[in-house]
Amino acid sequence: MTDQLRPDGSLRHLLTLEHLPRAHIERLLERAEGFVRPLGARPPLSNALAGITVANLFTEPSTRTRVSFELAAKRLGAAVVNLEVQLSSRAKGESMLDTVYTLQSLHVDVMVIRDAEQGVPELVAANVAPHVSVLSAGEAHVSHPTQGLLDALTVRQHKGRFAGLAVAIVGDIRHSRVARSAYHAFRVLGVADLRIVAPPALMPEPAEFAGCARHTTLKSGLKDADVVMMLRIQRERMGQADLPDADRYFAKYGLTPERLALARPDAIVMHPQPMNRGIEIASDVADGPQSVIRDQVRNGVAVRMAVLAEVIGSRTGGA
Ligand code: ASP
Repeated sequence: MTDQLRPDGSLRHLLTLEHLPRAHIERLLERAEGFVRPLGARPPLSNALAGITVANLFTEPSTRTRVSFELAAKRLGAAVVNLEVQLSSRAKGESMLDTVYTLQSLHVDVMVIRDAEQGVPELVAANVAPHVSVLSAGEAHVSHPTQGLLDALTVRQHKGRFAGLAVAIVGDIRHSRVARSAYHAFRVLGVADLRIVAPPALMPEPAEFAGCARHTTLKSGLKDADVVMMLRIQRERMGQADLPDADRYFAKYGLTPERLALARPDAIVMHPQPMNRGIEIASDVADGPQSVIRDQVRNGVAVRMAVLAEVIGSRTGGA
């Protein structure tokens, strides 16, 4: 595994939250909090990243993550280029690394990469010049570190702590990079009662999610939870045979107001989006008073600003 930290201990790449020291996660959350503004207020603007170029290389669809990385970079004064990789050279057979070397020659300093294939962000990180940082914007089913950070920030804002919380991650855990990054963040931040709730077919392998209680019903899994994190059914990562029937899934695993009542009265409801309304979550819950889903989106920009500021701010030489 490519080291995410520089020899001096500062953050150079962000590929995964797994094994990222707690101090780094807390520092990023602190920095991100400083970039959060209420809706309607002007977002913070600075030129901390003036002269820096950020490239978004996305080979999988994305709305929130790509737009928020772009806004985050621009609000810090960086230049941004967006590559729809399937439409450009990769589709013509040019390898990912050749694209990366081209961008590097064009003075790109930060490469933000989303790819459906496991290992691509790490491959790029292992091959870029020492002044270049690589940030994962979602890697296969394994990692989505900025999502994990924005989820942690959202919980911290609403609950003020991690210790003592009961957090239920619900749905298609097996195919979810969001669940994996949230798991690493919550574990390191001290959530003791961390549960995964899924039908048996969507449970991860037994070796994964160590220390989590596993529940196959919402009745037991949501009981007295402080945080209910719903996940999208990820059809694109399933074979035809594994596809759950939407109505049956909603009947057993859909989050309705009645089921949410199993959790604590002040429980918050999260979802990384895009949502399948009426499949994993009812609209009246998604838009209801306990939903913090729109806060998650707002926090996404702040977290990505924090990560960009951190990897560039701590860079020496060639900066
Ligand atoms: N947007 C998130 C991701 O890229 C969640 C999802 O797609 O379900 O993983």
